[in-house]
Parts: sequence; C-alpha cells; structure tokens
Amino acid sequence: MEKSDKISSKVKELLKTIPPHVTLLAAAKSRTVEEVEAAFDSGIRHFGHNYVQEAQEMIPNVGFNAHWHMIGHLQRNKAGQALEIFDYIDSLDSLKLALALEKRCQQLDRQVEVLIEVNSGLEEEKTGLPSSEVESLAHELSSLSRVHLVGLMTMGPFTGNPELARPYFVKTRTLFDYLESLHLPNTRMRVLSMGMSNSYRVAIEEGANMVRIGTLLFGPR
Ligand SMILES: *Cc1c(COP(=O)(O)O)cnc(C)c1O
Repeated sequence: MEKSDKISSKVKELLKTIPPHVTLLAAAKSRTVEEVEAAFDSGIRHFGHNYVQEAQEMIPNVGFNAHWHMIGHLQRNKAGQALEIFDYIDSLDSLKLALALEKRCQQLDRQVEVLIEVNSGLEEEKTGLPSSEVESLAHELSSLSRVHLVGLMTMGPFTGNPELARPYFVKTRTLFDYLESLHLPNTRMRVLSMGMSNSYRVAIEEGANMVRIGTLLFGPR
C-alpha cells in the first residue's frame, strides 16, 4: 500500500473510534508535506508542530488551509516567528512568553488563543508549568487583551503504560474544571488537550476533547 493510502485508512479508522466531541490533532513533527496532506485529505483539520524552524519550512508549502498548533516548547525570542505560522499556541508555560506574544500580536494586529501546558507528571517532564503555578498564570493572562486562554494541554509521564498516565489526566481535568469555575475575564476554558498515540483512549475517558496523535497515524518516527 502507498504511504498516503495507509495514512488515510488510519485516519478514517481513528475518526470512527473517537467520539464526535473530540478533536483529532495530527502531530506533524518530522513528517513530510505529502504525509500531512494525506492526513488533511482524509479529514484532519488540526495539526501540531513542535519546532518553529521545521514548521516554517513545512506550513507555507502545504497546499491546504488547516488550523496549526504550536505544541512544542516555545522560546520567547521565537514568539514572533511562531505567530506568523501558527494559529494557536498550546504550550504556553510562562508569563514572559505570554507578554512576548501579546506584544507581537499588537504589532501584527491579531489575537491568539493559547493553552497552558501543564507539567502534570512533574518528575518526568521537562516542559510545561507545574500544576501549582497554573492558576496564577491564568489570573495574569486574564488581564491581557490579545492573548486568550482557552484551555490546557498536558503530556503526562511517558511510561509505555497508558494506565499510569490516568491519574495525571484526572488531575489536569480537575484543574481545568476549577479554572472554568473561576469565570476569569478574557478566558473561555474549552479545550482539554491530553493523550497521544498510546494513551488517547484513557485521556478521552478522563475528559480530553483534543488528542494529539503522531505515530499511530504516520507510523514510527
Ligand atoms: C510528538 C507529540 C505528540 C504525538 O506523539 P505520538 O506518540 O507520536 O502520537 C503529542 N504531543 C506532543 C506535545 C508531541 O510532541
């Protein structure tokens, strides 16, 4: 089977098993333009990338118009470049980065929706903000005018056993519900992005409404 046929049958299979309220985001790092086009042609509308430079080479060359999410760690000095290619920043992890985005948004006269990346598995993870610091960042974001908080993203510890990620998904879901209950200005908690190829089922059971999948769609990296 052609690579693109394989991808499209995987996409169709996955879209069938995922409940309709859950958005399937394809993680495109290290993939080719042809691979992401095959995913788009089969119905995927949200794509994620981890690296600004790789994404700069890919996104302008894809022949379709999708929603692009930055899902990798974003350095402050790349905030402007990221805003030129990404629609959403799903990996916000500091006020400094938020302020850099706010400033660039002003210059570009645009808005941006962001997710706070929660480092729910603390000991394992290097990216994201510890859960205990998320509420205060959310309060700070609520006073910005161009950066809008719309949800949380988490990876959870990667162990190979998705059941071990469940408590971290539960914890992130609880935090999500709590932030929603605060009704902060400029904040609409609507995206809970948890779960990858090996853990997306567990993540959906625990309330994810966005799952980020690479390997299962495109094959091993
Ligand atoms: C690569 C990546 C994914 C997808 O991982 P797979 O195991 O290949 O499905 C999801 N989220 C983030 C942040 C990633 O970097």
